[in-house]
Amino acid sequence: MSRPGTPDHPLRVAVVGAGPAGFFAAEHLFKQEGLGVEVDVFDRLPTPYGLVRAGVAPDHQKIKSVTRVYEKTAAKPGFRFYGNVTFGSDLDLDDLRSHYHAVIFTTGAQMDRALGIPGEDLPRSHSATEFVAWYNGHPDYRDLEFDLSQKSVAVVGVGNVAVDVARILCKTTDELAATDIADHALEALRESRVEDVYLLGRRGPAQAAFTTPEVKEMGEIPGTDVIVLPEEARLDPLSEQAMAESDDRALARKVQLIQDFSGRSPSGRPRRLHMRFLVSPVELTPAADGGVGGMRLVHNELRDAGKGNLRPRPTERTEELEVGLVFRSVGYRGVELPGVPFRDDWGVIPNVCGRIVDAAGSPLAGMYTAGWIKRGPSGIIGTNKACSVETVTLLLEDLAADTLPRPEHPSAEAADRLVRARQPLVFDFEDWKRLDELEKKRGAASGRPRVKFTTVREMAEALGR
Ligand code: NAP
Repeated sequence: MSRPGTPDHPLRVAVVGAGPAGFFAAEHLFKQEGLGVEVDVFDRLPTPYGLVRAGVAPDHQKIKSVTRVYEKTAAKPGFRFYGNVTFGSDLDLDDLRSHYHAVIFTTGAQMDRALGIPGEDLPRSHSATEFVAWYNGHPDYRDLEFDLSQKSVAVVGVGNVAVDVARILCKTTDELAATDIADHALEALRESRVEDVYLLGRRGPAQAAFTTPEVKEMGEIPGTDVIVLPEEARLDPLSEQAMAESDDRALARKVQLIQDFSGRSPSGRPRRLHMRFLVSPVELTPAADGGVGGMRLVHNELRDAGKGNLRPRPTERTEELEVGLVFRSVGYRGVELPGVPFRDDWGVIPNVCGRIVDAAGSPLAGMYTAGWIKRGPSGIIGTNKACSVETVTLLLEDLAADTLPRPEHPSAEAADRLVRARQPLVFDFEDWKRLDELEKKRGAASGRPRVKFTTVREMAEALGR
Protein backbone atom coordinates (compact mmCIF):
# COMPACT_ATOMS: atom_id res chain seq x y z
CA MET A 1 0.00 0.00 0.00
CA SER A 2 1.30 3.45 -0.91
CA ARG A 3 2.08 6.15 1.61
CA PRO A 4 -1.10 7.74 3.05
CA GLY A 5 -1.97 11.42 2.82
CA THR A 6 -3.86 11.74 -0.47
CA PRO A 7 -7.60 12.41 -0.88
CA ASP A 8 -8.16 8.79 -1.95
CA HIS A 9 -5.91 7.34 0.69
CA PRO A 10 -6.01 9.81 3.58
CA LEU A 11 -3.76 9.81 6.61
CA ARG A 12 -5.98 8.55 9.44
CA VAL A 13 -5.27 9.85 12.91
CA ALA A 14 -6.97 8.98 16.21
CA VAL A 15 -6.77 11.61 18.94
CA VAL A 16 -7.59 10.34 22.43
CA GLY A 17 -8.80 13.22 24.61
CA ALA A 18 -10.90 16.12 23.31
CA GLY A 19 -9.30 18.88 25.37
CA PRO A 20 -7.23 21.82 24.09
CA ALA A 21 -4.18 19.69 23.19
CA GLY A 22 -6.33 17.27 21.17
CA PHE A 23 -8.11 20.05 19.27
CA PHE A 24 -4.87 21.94 18.62
CA ALA A 25 -3.31 18.74 17.24
CA ALA A 26 -6.30 18.20 14.93
CA GLU A 27 -6.17 21.86 13.85
CA HIS A 28 -2.54 21.56 12.85
CA LEU A 29 -3.18 18.40 10.85
CA PHE A 30 -5.98 20.08 8.89
CA LYS A 31 -3.75 23.10 8.27
CA GLN A 32 -1.35 21.09 6.09
CA GLU A 33 -1.80 22.09 2.51
CA GLY A 34 -2.32 19.23 0.10
CA LEU A 35 -2.56 16.62 2.86
CA GLY A 36 -5.50 14.22 2.74
CA VAL A 37 -6.24 13.65 6.40
CA GLU A 38 -9.04 12.29 8.60
CA VAL A 39 -9.03 12.86 12.34
CA ASP A 40 -11.27 11.06 14.83
CA VAL A 41 -11.22 12.65 18.28
CA PHE A 42 -12.34 10.43 21.17
CA ASP A 43 -13.36 11.44 24.67
CA ARG A 44 -14.68 9.47 27.60
CA LEU A 45 -17.19 12.27 28.24
CA PRO A 46 -20.08 12.97 25.86
CA THR A 47 -18.95 16.62 25.69
CA PRO A 48 -15.75 17.98 24.14
CA TYR A 49 -13.17 20.57 25.35
CA GLY A 50 -11.68 18.88 28.44
CA LEU A 51 -10.50 21.40 30.99
CA VAL A 52 -12.03 24.33 29.12
CA ARG A 53 -15.38 22.92 30.19
CA ALA A 54 -14.43 21.08 33.39
CA GLY A 55 -11.43 23.04 34.68
CA VAL A 56 -11.49 26.72 33.72
CA ALA A 57 -13.23 28.68 36.48
CA PRO A 58 -16.88 29.49 35.76
CA ASP A 59 -16.23 33.19 36.44
CA HIS A 60 -13.57 33.21 33.69
CA GLN A 61 -15.94 32.99 30.71
CA LYS A 62 -13.61 34.92 28.42
CA ILE A 63 -10.98 32.16 28.59
CA LYS A 64 -13.62 29.71 27.37
CA SER A 65 -14.09 31.60 24.11
CA VAL A 66 -11.14 29.57 22.76
CA THR A 67 -13.79 26.94 21.94
CA ARG A 68 -14.68 29.00 18.85
CA VAL A 69 -11.32 27.96 17.40
CA TYR A 70 -12.11 24.32 18.20
CA GLU A 71 -15.51 24.64 16.52
CA LYS A 72 -13.75 25.70 13.32
CA THR A 73 -11.57 22.61 13.49
CA ALA A 74 -14.60 20.43 14.11
CA ALA A 75 -16.22 21.87 10.97
CA LYS A 76 -13.40 20.59 8.72
CA PRO A 77 -14.34 17.75 6.40
CA GLY A 78 -12.60 14.67 7.77
CA PHE A 79 -13.13 15.61 11.44
CA ARG A 80 -15.27 13.37 13.65
CA PHE A 81 -15.93 13.52 17.39
CA TYR A 82 -16.73 10.35 19.34
CA GLY A 83 -17.90 11.32 22.82
CA ASN A 84 -18.71 8.86 25.62
CA VAL A 85 -16.09 6.46 24.28
CA THR A 86 -13.51 5.36 26.85
CA PHE A 87 -10.04 4.32 25.78
CA GLY A 88 -9.13 1.18 27.68
CA SER A 89 -12.68 -0.17 28.02
CA ASP A 90 -14.66 0.63 24.85
CA LEU A 91 -11.56 0.68 22.64
CA ASP A 92 -8.05 -0.53 23.27
CA LEU A 93 -4.70 0.19 21.71
CA ASP A 94 -4.95 -2.71 19.23
CA ASP A 95 -8.31 -1.36 18.00
CA LEU A 96 -6.77 2.03 17.29
CA ARG A 97 -3.58 0.61 15.78
CA SER A 98 -5.61 -1.51 13.36
CA HIS A 99 -7.73 1.46 12.16
CA TYR A 100 -5.37 4.46 12.18
CA HIS A 101 -1.90 5.28 10.91
CA ALA A 102 -1.18 7.33 14.00
CA VAL A 103 -2.59 7.80 17.51
CA ILE A 104 -2.08 10.96 19.56
CA PHE A 105 -2.78 10.70 23.28
CA THR A 106 -3.94 14.02 24.74
CA THR A 107 -5.64 12.83 27.93
CA GLY A 108 -4.34 15.56 30.22
CA ALA A 109 -3.76 15.11 33.94
CA GLN A 110 -6.89 14.06 35.79
CA MET A 111 -5.46 13.11 39.17
CA ASP A 112 -4.21 15.30 41.98
CA ARG A 113 -0.92 15.15 43.78
CA ALA A 114 -0.98 14.27 47.47
CA LEU A 115 0.79 16.08 50.31
CA GLY A 116 1.90 12.89 52.03
CA ILE A 117 1.20 14.15 55.55
CA PRO A 118 -0.67 12.53 58.47
CA GLY A 119 -4.39 13.27 58.51
CA GLU A 120 -4.57 13.92 54.78
CA ASP A 121 -7.31 11.30 54.42
CA LEU A 122 -9.58 12.68 57.15
CA PRO A 123 -13.14 13.54 56.16
CA ARG A 124 -13.35 17.16 54.91
CA SER A 125 -9.86 16.94 53.37
CA HIS A 126 -10.18 16.98 49.59
CA SER A 127 -8.21 17.62 46.45
CA ALA A 128 -8.85 20.86 44.60
CA THR A 129 -9.19 18.70 41.48
CA GLU A 130 -12.38 17.16 42.89
CA PHE A 131 -13.85 20.48 43.97
CA VAL A 132 -13.09 22.12 40.61
CA ALA A 133 -14.62 19.20 38.67
CA TRP A 134 -17.66 19.30 40.99
CA TYR A 135 -18.40 23.01 40.61
CA ASN A 136 -17.85 22.73 36.86
CA GLY A 137 -20.40 19.93 36.53
CA HIS A 138 -18.09 17.07 35.48
CA PRO A 139 -20.39 14.01 35.44
CA ASP A 140 -17.95 11.86 37.46
CA TYR A 141 -17.77 14.40 40.29
CA ARG A 142 -21.26 15.91 40.46
CA ASP A 143 -22.36 13.73 43.39
CA LEU A 144 -19.48 14.67 45.70
CA GLU A 145 -20.29 16.60 48.84
CA PHE A 146 -18.25 19.32 50.49
CA ASP A 147 -19.04 20.55 53.98
CA LEU A 148 -19.49 24.25 53.34
CA SER A 149 -20.95 24.75 56.81
CA GLN A 150 -17.35 25.17 58.00
CA LYS A 151 -16.27 28.74 58.75
CA SER A 152 -12.57 28.33 57.98
CA VAL A 153 -11.09 26.65 54.92
CA ALA A 154 -7.48 26.10 53.90
CA VAL A 155 -6.32 25.77 50.32
CA VAL A 156 -2.80 24.32 50.20
CA GLY A 157 -0.67 25.64 47.34
CA VAL A 158 -0.55 29.01 45.63
CA GLY A 159 -0.97 28.14 41.96
CA ASN A 160 -3.77 29.43 39.75
CA VAL A 161 -5.96 26.45 40.61
CA ALA A 162 -5.68 27.30 44.32
CA VAL A 163 -6.67 30.87 43.47
CA ASP A 164 -9.68 29.67 41.46
CA VAL A 165 -10.85 27.58 44.41
CA ALA A 166 -10.35 30.44 46.86
CA ARG A 167 -12.24 32.85 44.59
CA ILE A 168 -15.19 30.50 44.16
CA LEU A 169 -15.35 30.10 47.95
CA CYS A 170 -15.21 33.86 48.48
CA LYS A 171 -17.67 35.09 45.85
CA THR A 172 -21.31 35.71 46.70
CA THR A 173 -24.17 33.68 45.26
CA ASP A 174 -25.19 36.67 43.15
CA GLU A 175 -21.74 36.83 41.60
CA LEU A 176 -21.64 33.09 40.98
CA ALA A 177 -25.17 33.06 39.59
CA ALA A 178 -23.94 35.12 36.63
CA THR A 179 -21.56 32.28 35.62
CA ASP A 180 -22.00 28.78 34.22
CA ILE A 181 -21.13 27.14 37.54
CA ALA A 182 -23.03 23.84 37.87
CA ASP A 183 -26.49 24.24 39.41
CA HIS A 184 -25.77 21.76 42.22
CA ALA A 185 -22.67 23.78 43.19
CA LEU A 186 -24.56 27.06 43.07
CA GLU A 187 -27.19 25.65 45.42
CA ALA A 188 -24.58 24.25 47.82
CA LEU A 189 -22.56 27.48 47.80
CA ARG A 190 -25.75 29.47 48.48
CA GLU A 191 -25.81 27.82 51.92
CA SER A 192 -22.06 28.32 52.49
CA ARG A 193 -21.01 29.60 55.92
CA VAL A 194 -17.38 30.01 54.89
CA GLU A 195 -15.89 33.23 56.28
CA ASP A 196 -12.12 32.70 56.25
CA VAL A 197 -10.16 31.18 53.38
CA TYR A 198 -6.42 30.58 53.84
CA LEU A 199 -4.21 30.20 50.78
CA LEU A 200 -1.00 28.54 51.95
CA GLY A 201 2.27 29.03 50.08
CA ARG A 202 5.33 27.07 51.16
CA ARG A 203 7.69 29.67 49.69
CA GLY A 204 7.57 33.46 49.53
CA PRO A 205 5.61 35.97 47.42
CA ALA A 206 8.34 36.04 44.76
CA GLN A 207 8.04 32.26 44.24
CA ALA A 208 4.24 32.01 44.20
CA ALA A 209 3.03 30.11 41.12
CA PHE A 210 -0.14 32.17 40.61
CA THR A 211 0.04 34.80 37.89
CA THR A 212 -0.25 38.56 38.24
CA PRO A 213 -3.79 39.09 36.83
CA GLU A 214 -5.08 36.40 39.20
CA VAL A 215 -3.54 38.19 42.20
CA LYS A 216 -5.09 41.49 41.13
CA GLU A 217 -8.47 39.80 40.78
CA MET A 218 -8.27 38.49 44.35
CA GLY A 219 -8.15 42.07 45.57
CA GLU A 220 -11.32 42.92 43.64
CA ILE A 221 -13.85 40.53 45.17
CA PRO A 222 -16.45 42.93 46.59
CA GLY A 223 -17.46 40.91 49.68
CA THR A 224 -13.95 39.86 50.65
CA ASP A 225 -11.03 41.49 52.44
CA VAL A 226 -7.61 40.23 51.36
CA ILE A 227 -5.23 39.86 54.28
CA VAL A 228 -1.46 39.42 53.96
CA LEU A 229 0.82 39.57 57.00
CA PRO A 230 3.48 42.26 56.48
CA GLU A 231 6.24 39.95 57.74
CA GLU A 232 5.26 37.34 55.12
CA ALA A 233 4.96 39.86 52.29
CA ARG A 234 8.46 41.19 52.93
CA LEU A 235 11.10 39.55 50.75
CA ASP A 236 13.94 37.65 52.34
CA PRO A 237 17.49 38.64 51.24
CA LEU A 238 17.77 35.75 48.73
CA SER A 239 14.49 36.64 46.99
CA GLU A 240 15.35 40.32 47.07
CA GLN A 241 18.65 39.63 45.34
CA ALA A 242 16.99 37.37 42.76
CA MET A 243 14.38 40.06 42.03
CA ALA A 244 17.06 42.74 41.72
CA GLU A 245 18.90 40.63 39.14
CA SER A 246 15.78 39.79 37.17
CA ASP A 247 13.96 42.00 34.70
CA ASP A 248 10.72 40.06 35.09
CA ARG A 249 8.25 42.92 35.25
CA ALA A 250 5.20 40.73 35.74
CA LEU A 251 6.89 39.19 38.78
CA ALA A 252 7.78 42.62 40.17
CA ARG A 253 4.16 43.70 39.72
CA LYS A 254 2.90 40.53 41.40
CA VAL A 255 5.12 41.03 44.43
CA GLN A 256 4.10 44.69 44.57
CA LEU A 257 0.40 43.74 44.55
CA ILE A 258 0.96 41.28 47.41
CA GLN A 259 2.87 43.88 49.39
CA ASP A 260 0.09 46.39 48.75
CA PHE A 261 -2.39 43.91 50.22
CA SER A 262 -0.26 43.67 53.35
CA GLY A 263 -0.72 47.39 53.86
CA ARG A 264 -4.53 47.20 53.68
CA SER A 265 -6.63 47.12 56.83
CA PRO A 266 -9.63 44.78 56.76
CA SER A 267 -12.80 46.79 56.11
CA GLY A 268 -15.20 44.40 57.83
CA ARG A 269 -16.40 42.59 54.71
CA PRO A 270 -18.21 39.31 55.35
CA ARG A 271 -15.34 37.15 54.05
CA ARG A 272 -11.60 37.22 54.43
CA LEU A 273 -9.02 35.74 52.08
CA HIS A 274 -5.75 35.24 53.94
CA MET A 275 -2.75 34.83 51.67
CA ARG A 276 -0.03 33.13 53.67
CA PHE A 277 3.59 32.54 52.71
CA LEU A 278 6.52 30.45 53.94
CA VAL A 279 4.29 27.91 55.70
CA SER A 280 3.79 24.17 55.08
CA PRO A 281 1.13 21.93 56.58
CA VAL A 282 2.79 19.01 58.36
CA GLU A 283 -0.33 17.39 59.80
CA LEU A 284 -4.11 17.65 59.57
CA THR A 285 -5.68 17.18 62.98
CA PRO A 286 -9.18 15.84 63.66
CA ALA A 287 -12.10 17.68 65.28
CA ALA A 288 -14.38 15.91 67.79
CA ASP A 289 -16.55 14.63 64.92
CA GLY A 290 -13.53 12.91 63.30
CA GLY A 291 -13.32 15.29 60.35
CA VAL A 292 -10.61 17.90 59.82
CA GLY A 293 -10.48 20.35 62.72
CA GLY A 294 -7.17 22.03 62.08
CA MET A 295 -3.71 21.81 60.69
CA ARG A 296 -0.23 22.13 62.09
CA LEU A 297 1.93 24.45 60.04
CA VAL A 298 5.67 24.72 60.07
CA HIS A 299 7.24 28.04 59.14
CA ASN A 300 9.83 27.83 56.38
CA GLU A 301 12.84 29.82 55.31
CA LEU A 302 14.31 29.81 51.83
CA ARG A 303 17.63 28.30 50.88
CA ASP A 304 19.46 28.44 47.58
CA ALA A 305 19.35 24.97 46.05
CA GLY A 306 21.63 26.07 43.22
CA LYS A 307 21.13 27.99 39.99
CA GLY A 308 18.95 30.50 41.80
CA ASN A 309 16.36 27.89 42.71
CA LEU A 310 15.08 28.91 46.14
CA ARG A 311 13.59 26.00 48.07
CA PRO A 312 11.70 25.95 51.38
CA ARG A 313 13.45 24.65 54.51
CA PRO A 314 11.45 24.08 57.70
CA THR A 315 12.37 26.09 60.79
CA GLU A 316 11.61 25.21 64.43
CA ARG A 317 8.59 27.51 64.43
CA THR A 318 5.16 25.90 64.20
CA GLU A 319 1.61 27.20 64.30
CA GLU A 320 -1.85 25.67 64.71
CA LEU A 321 -4.46 26.81 62.22
CA GLU A 322 -8.11 26.09 62.97
CA VAL A 323 -9.79 24.99 59.75
CA GLY A 324 -12.69 22.61 59.15
CA LEU A 325 -12.22 22.01 55.44
CA VAL A 326 -9.03 21.54 53.43
CA PHE A 327 -8.35 21.51 49.70
CA ARG A 328 -4.90 20.48 48.54
CA SER A 329 -3.99 22.22 45.31
CA VAL A 330 -0.40 21.18 44.76
CA GLY A 331 -0.59 20.12 41.13
CA TYR A 332 -2.28 17.55 38.91
CA ARG A 333 -0.83 14.31 37.59
CA GLY A 334 -1.55 12.13 34.57
CA VAL A 335 -3.19 8.72 34.68
CA GLU A 336 -1.71 5.61 33.03
CA LEU A 337 -3.53 4.39 29.91
CA PRO A 338 -3.79 0.63 29.26
CA GLY A 339 -1.08 -0.54 26.89
CA VAL A 340 0.60 2.86 26.67
CA PRO A 341 4.02 3.45 28.30
CA PHE A 342 3.86 5.56 31.45
CA ARG A 343 6.37 7.25 33.74
CA ASP A 344 4.81 6.88 37.12
CA ASP A 345 7.32 9.14 38.86
CA TRP A 346 6.47 12.06 36.56
CA GLY A 347 2.85 11.15 35.82
CA VAL A 348 3.39 11.48 32.04
CA ILE A 349 3.72 9.31 28.92
CA PRO A 350 7.46 9.00 28.18
CA ASN A 351 8.20 10.81 24.93
CA VAL A 352 10.76 12.78 23.02
CA CYS A 353 9.14 16.02 21.84
CA GLY A 354 5.85 14.14 21.44
CA ARG A 355 7.01 10.83 19.97
CA ILE A 356 6.13 8.14 22.52
CA VAL A 357 9.14 6.04 23.48
CA ASP A 358 9.48 2.61 25.09
CA ALA A 359 11.50 1.77 28.19
CA ALA A 360 14.69 1.69 26.11
CA GLY A 361 13.95 5.17 24.75
CA SER A 362 13.11 4.01 21.22
CA PRO A 363 10.15 5.68 19.48
CA LEU A 364 7.04 3.55 19.01
CA ALA A 365 6.00 3.97 15.38
CA GLY A 366 2.74 5.88 14.98
CA MET A 367 2.36 6.73 18.70
CA TYR A 368 2.36 10.35 19.85
CA THR A 369 1.33 12.51 22.75
CA ALA A 370 0.62 16.19 23.43
CA GLY A 371 -0.56 18.45 26.25
CA TRP A 372 -0.34 17.79 29.99
CA ILE A 373 0.04 14.01 29.59
CA LYS A 374 3.12 14.75 27.45
CA ARG A 375 4.84 17.46 29.47
CA GLY A 376 3.09 17.64 32.86
CA PRO A 377 0.48 20.06 34.18
CA SER A 378 1.91 23.45 33.36
CA GLY A 379 1.13 26.53 31.34
CA ILE A 380 -2.05 28.14 30.12
CA ILE A 381 -4.42 26.79 27.45
CA GLY A 382 -2.44 28.42 24.66
CA THR A 383 0.73 26.64 25.79
CA ASN A 384 -0.83 23.46 24.47
CA LYS A 385 -0.97 24.86 20.95
CA ALA A 386 2.82 24.98 20.57
CA CYS A 387 3.03 21.62 22.32
CA SER A 388 0.59 19.99 19.87
CA VAL A 389 2.22 21.64 16.86
CA GLU A 390 5.58 20.20 17.96
CA THR A 391 4.07 16.71 18.14
CA VAL A 392 2.20 16.94 14.84
CA THR A 393 5.33 18.25 13.12
CA LEU A 394 7.12 15.04 14.11
CA LEU A 395 4.15 12.94 13.01
CA LEU A 396 4.35 14.64 9.59
CA GLU A 397 8.10 14.02 9.46
CA ASP A 398 7.44 10.34 10.10
CA LEU A 399 4.78 10.37 7.39
CA ALA A 400 7.27 11.92 4.96
CA ALA A 401 9.90 9.35 5.95
CA ASP A 402 7.26 6.66 5.43
CA THR A 403 7.78 5.13 8.88
CA LEU A 404 4.13 5.14 9.97
CA PRO A 405 2.61 1.69 10.41
CA ARG A 406 0.04 0.40 7.92
CA PRO A 407 -3.22 -0.38 9.72
CA GLU A 408 -5.28 -3.39 8.72
CA HIS A 409 -8.53 -1.40 8.30
CA PRO A 410 -7.65 2.13 7.25
CA SER A 411 -11.19 3.29 6.47
CA ALA A 412 -13.44 5.78 8.20
CA GLU A 413 -16.41 3.41 7.81
CA ALA A 414 -14.59 0.50 9.48
CA ALA A 415 -13.62 2.68 12.46
CA ASP A 416 -17.16 4.03 12.77
CA ARG A 417 -18.63 0.51 12.73
CA LEU A 418 -16.22 -0.63 15.40
CA VAL A 419 -16.84 2.34 17.72
CA ARG A 420 -20.63 2.08 17.46
CA ALA A 421 -20.54 -1.67 18.04
CA ARG A 422 -18.55 -1.14 21.21
CA GLN A 423 -20.43 1.91 22.48
CA PRO A 424 -23.91 2.39 21.05
CA LEU A 425 -24.44 5.64 23.01
CA VAL A 426 -21.88 7.65 21.05
CA PHE A 427 -22.19 11.45 21.01
CA ASP A 428 -20.94 13.07 17.80
CA PHE A 429 -20.17 16.74 17.19
CA GLU A 430 -23.71 17.43 15.92
CA ASP A 431 -25.00 16.04 19.22
CA TRP A 432 -22.65 18.38 21.07
CA LYS A 433 -23.87 21.37 19.05
CA ARG A 434 -27.43 20.56 20.05
CA LEU A 435 -26.48 20.11 23.70
CA ASP A 436 -24.56 23.38 23.56
CA GLU A 437 -27.63 25.19 22.22
CA LEU A 438 -29.89 23.59 24.82
CA GLU A 439 -27.54 24.51 27.67
CA LYS A 440 -27.37 28.10 26.46
CA LYS A 441 -31.14 28.25 26.15
CA ARG A 442 -31.53 26.97 29.71
CA GLY A 443 -29.06 29.64 30.83
CA ALA A 444 -30.74 32.50 28.97
CA ALA A 445 -33.90 31.99 31.03
CA SER A 446 -31.98 32.97 34.18
CA GLY A 447 -29.42 35.40 32.71
CA ARG A 448 -26.59 32.87 32.79
CA PRO A 449 -24.15 31.90 29.99
CA ARG A 450 -25.45 28.32 30.17
CA VAL A 451 -26.89 25.79 32.56
CA LYS A 452 -24.86 22.62 32.13
CA PHE A 453 -26.10 19.09 31.82
CA THR A 454 -24.11 17.16 34.39
CA THR A 455 -25.00 13.52 33.76
CA VAL A 456 -24.67 11.36 30.68
CA ARG A 457 -28.28 10.30 31.15
CA GLU A 458 -29.55 13.92 31.12
CA MET A 459 -27.56 14.55 27.96
CA ALA A 460 -28.93 11.46 26.23
CA GLU A 461 -32.48 12.33 27.26
CA ALA A 462 -32.12 15.92 26.09
CA LEU A 463 -31.25 14.52 22.65
CA GLY A 464 -34.20 12.13 22.77
CA ARG A 465 -32.02 9.03 22.92
P1 NAP B 1 1.00 24.99 39.79
O1 NAP B 1 0.93 26.29 39.10
O2 NAP B 1 2.12 24.08 39.48
O3 NAP B 1 0.99 25.30 41.38
C1 NAP B 1 1.17 24.30 42.32
C2 NAP B 1 1.36 24.93 43.67
O4 NAP B 1 1.46 23.89 44.65
C3 NAP B 1 2.65 25.74 43.80
O5 NAP B 1 2.39 26.87 44.59
C4 NAP B 1 3.58 24.77 44.52
O6 NAP B 1 4.57 25.40 45.29
C5 NAP B 1 2.59 24.12 45.45
N1 NAP B 1 3.07 22.88 46.02
C6 NAP B 1 3.52 21.78 45.38
N2 NAP B 1 3.83 20.82 46.26
C7 NAP B 1 3.57 21.33 47.49
C8 NAP B 1 3.67 20.82 48.80
N3 NAP B 1 4.09 19.59 49.04
N4 NAP B 1 3.31 21.61 49.83
C9 NAP B 1 2.86 22.86 49.61
N5 NAP B 1 2.73 23.40 48.38
C10 NAP B 1 3.08 22.64 47.34
O7 NAP B 1 -0.30 24.08 39.55
P2 NAP B 1 -1.86 24.40 39.45
O8 NAP B 1 -2.27 25.54 40.30
O9 NAP B 1 -2.50 23.09 39.64
O10 NAP B 1 -2.04 24.84 37.94
C11 NAP B 1 -1.69 23.99 36.85
C12 NAP B 1 -1.45 24.83 35.61
O11 NAP B 1 -2.70 25.36 35.14
C13 NAP B 1 -0.56 26.03 35.86
O12 NAP B 1 0.29 26.22 34.78
C14 NAP B 1 -1.54 27.17 35.99
O13 NAP B 1 -1.00 28.44 35.69
C15 NAP B 1 -2.60 26.76 34.98
N6 NAP B 1 -3.87 27.43 35.31
C16 NAP B 1 -4.07 28.65 34.77
C17 NAP B 1 -5.21 29.35 35.09
C18 NAP B 1 -5.41 30.71 34.51
O14 NAP B 1 -4.77 31.05 33.53
N7 NAP B 1 -6.25 31.54 35.09
C19 NAP B 1 -6.15 28.82 35.97
C20 NAP B 1 -5.91 27.56 36.52
C21 NAP B 1 -4.75 26.87 36.18
P3 NAP B 1 6.11 25.42 44.78
O15 NAP B 1 6.14 26.47 43.71
O16 NAP B 1 6.84 25.77 46.00
O17 NAP B 1 6.42 24.05 44.24
